[in-house]
Amino acid sequence: MSDTRTAGASAPTDTRAAEALSNFIGGRWVPSAARQFVDVHNPALGTVIARTPLSNAEEVDAAVQAAARAFRGWSETPVVVRARAMFRFVRLLEEHFEDLARTVTTEHGKTLDEARGSVRRGIECVEVACGAPSLMMGYGLENIATNIDSAVVRQPIGVVAAIAPFNFPAMVPLWFLPFAVATGNTIVVKPSEQVPLSQRLIFRLLERCDLPPGVVNLVNGGRTVVEAICDHPGIKAVSFVGSTPVAREVYRRATHAGKRVQALGGAKNVVVVMPDANMEKAIEIITESFYGCAGERCLAGSLLVPVGAAHAEARDRLVASARSLKVGDGLVPGVTMGPVISGPHRDRVRSYIDKGVHEGAALVLDGRGATVGDRPDGFWVGPTVFDDVSPSMTIGREEIFGPVASIAAAKTLDEAIALMEAHPNANATSIFTSSGKAAREFAHRATASMVGVNIGVAAPMAYFPFGGAKDSFFGDLKVHGRDAFEFYTDKKVTITRWL
Ligand code: NAD
Repeated sequence: MSDTRTAGASAPTDTRAAEALSNFIGGRWVPSAARQFVDVHNPALGTVIARTPLSNAEEVDAAVQAAARAFRGWSETPVVVRARAMFRFVRLLEEHFEDLARTVTTEHGKTLDEARGSVRRGIECVEVACGAPSLMMGYGLENIATNIDSAVVRQPIGVVAAIAPFNFPAMVPLWFLPFAVATGNTIVVKPSEQVPLSQRLIFRLLERCDLPPGVVNLVNGGRTVVEAICDHPGIKAVSFVGSTPVAREVYRRATHAGKRVQALGGAKNVVVVMPDANMEKAIEIITESFYGCAGERCLAGSLLVPVGAAHAEARDRLVASARSLKVGDGLVPGVTMGPVISGPHRDRVRSYIDKGVHEGAALVLDGRGATVGDRPDGFWVGPTVFDDVSPSMTIGREEIFGPVASIAAAKTLDEAIALMEAHPNANATSIFTSSGKAAREFAHRATASMVGVNIGVAAPMAYFPFGGAKDSFFGDLKVHGRDAFEFYTDKKVTITRWL
């Protein structure tokens, strides 16, 4: 696939007026040398609002060189001073909170409340990174032999890189940047070419945090930039978030080049409803899980598995609840579900619905014809529900990443767990029940590594590790929490005897 085939590259709108974005390298905004651009859309309007340059490998190299030059001084800067820069960053993010949330909604489409939630989650990562003076500490022991002491310290590893997906334009890069920087590394960030504006704003705030030039760098682009990051000998670690095929390839390529890698992939999240669940509350929460952010969350429910007698009631309540969602522009008050990210993605989601019908699932709520009166060119798909889905159908197997719920009923909890076990993805999962025994059994046996009990979106907070298992995660150390301090540091052990 060439860079120009990335979603949005062939927008029908006149793009000449839209601003071409710059990169941020060595403390300066630098126009890209790119000849090819991706159109950035407001998905609720279908209009082009900016153009992302598809930067080249030389531009990645320039960013890595700037980061490498900054590394020595920054890694020697006292950790408390580095943490102070992150405190300043928190303050600026708070001051510009509304601005950021609106930027997220404008370029991604999610509702303003959802955007605010995601910015809040991002800020929490910076807050946790402010704890670097404590969280980066090593440990030691006297008299490991007579008059010999030993101590472990953590040291930053060098230039690191983070590559982000489209679905959380502000938050996902903040899973990485604050931890990398607070621990003394320098970083190159590549946002999704579909949603580069939130990171532009965030880097404008970073410019005001007294960071030396080169500590944080931003390179816009697509596949070429990702490949250059994977291959660059000056980069020591790569964090990736995106779809499973790309995550797998980034992991392979970057580890082959000798780097430390964490690559988070796609999902097909199973949500189990037991007959003893509080059905009214459960379906309210489940509706948010399946249709929040128009289903474009890696933690979104995708397969609803009602067990035994829960089936009919869960289905009927879900259909009623999904039908009551108000689809529209996320900036408009009262709207509860925004558009999907792009025209090509809307068409992909619709074609999944076509396939579900073709393969014999029962379409009980059809979102294909959704329109929004005063936004005729937005990328709309309405809430959709399929019943009688089998895990072997395309819609039961593949990640749709849109507002489509597939119901696959099971006779027993064992059968529901077996369904999850059989799937190659294992990101998040949830159970709704009032039985402690069922909840415990489920949490213990779940293959997914983010588990919700009566929680629809099992998102670990910034001080816990975030990441899935199997084909949803390639690597060892997960994202944020204590794992971040492991990922961004190397441990050095000194053994001392004074003669
Ligand atoms: P994507 O894989 O298409 O793109 C992710 C990043 O990789 C982007 O920066 C893009 O420029 C780059 N990229 C795309 N194709 C590439 C290629 N062939 N070679 C090299 N780089 C390439 O993903 P997306 O559509 O932006 O995001 C949605 C996906 O991300 C979903 O699968 C979702 O589940 C996943 N996701 C996972 C998590 C998680 O925590 N596991 C979180 C958010 C999103």
